[in-house]
Amino acid sequence: AANFVKQEVWEKDRDHFVHPWTDFSTFKESGSMVFQQADGVSVQDADGKRYLDGIGGLWCVNIGYGRDEIAEAVAEQIRAIPYFSTFGHHTTAPAARLAAKLAELAPGDLNHVFYGCGGSVANDTAVRLIHFYFNQLGKTSKKQIISRIDGYHGSTYMAMSITGVQFDHIGFDVERQLVHHISCPNPYRRPEEQSLEAFCDEKVQELEDKILELGPDNVAAFFAEPIMGAGGVIVPPPGYHQKTLAVCRKYDVLYVSDEVVTAFGRLGHMFASEDEFGIVPDIITCAKGLTSGYLPLGATIFSDRIYDVISKPQADGALFTHGFTYSGHPVSCAAGLKNIEIMEREGICDHVQDVGAYFEQRLHELKALPIIGDVRGRKFMMCLESVADKTTKELIAPEAKIGNRIADECQQRGLIVRPLAHMNILSPTLILSRQDVDFVVETLRE
Ligand code: PLP
Repeated sequence: AANFVKQEVWEKDRDHFVHPWTDFSTFKESGSMVFQQADGVSVQDADGKRYLDGIGGLWCVNIGYGRDEIAEAVAEQIRAIPYFSTFGHHTTAPAARLAAKLAELAPGDLNHVFYGCGGSVANDTAVRLIHFYFNQLGKTSKKQIISRIDGYHGSTYMAMSITGVQFDHIGFDVERQLVHHISCPNPYRRPEEQSLEAFCDEKVQELEDKILELGPDNVAAFFAEPIMGAGGVIVPPPGYHQKTLAVCRKYDVLYVSDEVVTAFGRLGHMFASEDEFGIVPDIITCAKGLTSGYLPLGATIFSDRIYDVISKPQADGALFTHGFTYSGHPVSCAAGLKNIEIMEREGICDHVQDVGAYFEQRLHELKALPIIGDVRGRKFMMCLESVADKTTKELIAPEAKIGNRIADECQQRGLIVRPLAHMNILSPTLILSRQDVDFVVETLRE
């Protein structure tokens, strides 16, 4: 019976389910691996084989799998009231309580929360919010957005345009009138003779130059992830975020910190902007770990300063006419509240500070291997970069598909890691034990 179910799912999936980010030219031959169950740090396939999930679902299952408490909170909310519109003056308790909790946790005066269904939408909302804000201030030419090459901000039209991963743009049209990219602050790829400080200053200067080139009166916002995720886990040089924020302040450009991956414990803090990088941005976007992936939810959290402007009666009668049927969905918000309650009660951030530091330290040992050129990231957001030559940092030929080969070999040994070209990403659940860390590192070494 189990084999029958497996075959049935496999065929339906192969023939009808259009997967995200998938190479359809090879999809039909190989089909999909069917995941059936999960608990703690591990997932199980349809044959009952267990794998340690080294990617936390997709950098999102922060509190781990199989949390009955979330199932109960969600079921309770569905029974009480599964949905009601929050347009205008209607609300539900979980939406209001979660907004207050996020305001409490977010840095500075980021006290206002707009909900959507994920990270892309949180970033799109930020753009609409920023444009509306400047329009209401009478600064109607302030529209341009600056982001970075290799930054990832999502897959809706606008979020993908802000994304700077060049590969993701191939074959598509993206918005080029409003969005401009500056280079990626990747310390590993800087010229050998350049100091980190000089490298940082050069990248910061590039932002200022871009603002001046476009004209400060035309630039609305700068989007940046605290640590770039899907672009290859790029930790910027020390001081980069503080210095880019200072440039933004100088020209009245709003700073959007995309914390879709970095928030909710991945770096050992509820939000990384201030606690890890010492900045209070104007807007934080988040999703993923907000519910630990148990249900879809995203949020755009913004400052009193922005709220004060958008909440005034507007001269042209404009309202912030933006929102989705599922903005503030009570069931997702109930999952988010319970998720944060669990994180606080179990001290997940402290655990990440401790075991995440061990993870970092142990992964760095792999730098001794002949093909590992760089090991980078922080805590439970890490990446291995494979190279053909560690001195010249020359890449291994793409045909060798080194990232995929490493991921396949790991999978056979019961560990899931994410291939990304010649890199492998590690973003496990945040409840890994030291023993789990040892298993991950030894499997990768093999
Ligand atoms: N921003 C960042 C930094 C992300 O890593 C992602 C997704 O991986 C997104 C935005 C988009 O989020 P979603 O896929 O939930 O729309």
